[in-house]
Amino acid sequence: MPFVITDPCIGTKDTACVDVCPVDCIHPRKDEPEFETMTMLYIHPEECIDCGACVPACPVTAIYDSVEAVPASQHGFIEANAIYRNGDADAMAAAEAIVKAHVESHAELMAIDPKERQAAH
Ligand code: SF4
Ligand code: SF4
Repeated sequence: MPFVITDPCIGTKDTACVDVCPVDCIHPRKDEPEFETMTMLYIHPEECIDCGACVPACPVTAIYDSVEAVPASQHGFIEANAIYRNGDADAMAAAEAIVKAHVESHAELMAIDPKERQAAH
């Protein structure tokens, strides 16, 4: 099952995961125009080869190693990662709408520093 990026990426978005991904399945990259406007990064679930390299690279532990591992508070990100397609305006808007809804409905999590947020999932 694919790896999933969750809410500690919001406010961090440092692309450390992009630098280690062997198949370039995490977007948007810094050199893509979408980078400035997207709230976070997303893993393409069909392109991800489950290598695990991105997990230790993430400074805020935002990446879960399977859909099953994603805690209940982060379930919206499973779909957000799954539907995001770089360069597809509708898909990007749909993913970002899920993220926006998460931010609005989880004020308690978003109030926590990204470095500490995963511990509260
Ligand atoms: S598990 Fe590997 S292939 Fe999948 S997103 Fe992470 S680094 Fe990329
Ligand atoms: S390394 Fe973590 S915080 Fe940085 S962009 Fe990737 S998922 Fe987001």
